[in-house]
Amino acid sequence: MPIYEYECQACGAHFDKFVRSISAQFAVQCPQCGSQDCKKALSLFGTAGGSVSGAGAGCAPSG
Ligand SMILES: [Zn+2]
Repeated sequence: MPIYEYECQACGAHFDKFVRSISAQFAVQCPQCGSQDCKKALSLFGTAGGSVSGAGAGCAPSG
């Protein structure tokens, strides 16, 4: 189940929300202050202090 974490720009509250479809556009409302000025944050899968693989061209055969 895809879960995305959002951060409220108004009060700074963090909350997670279930998302059925990534392409689906919906208004995210802060459960704390009710503001819809929220941005998606990545944290559930650990991002702080982590190195993300940059190259994504595919598997390169190591000769
Ligand atoms: Zn808020």
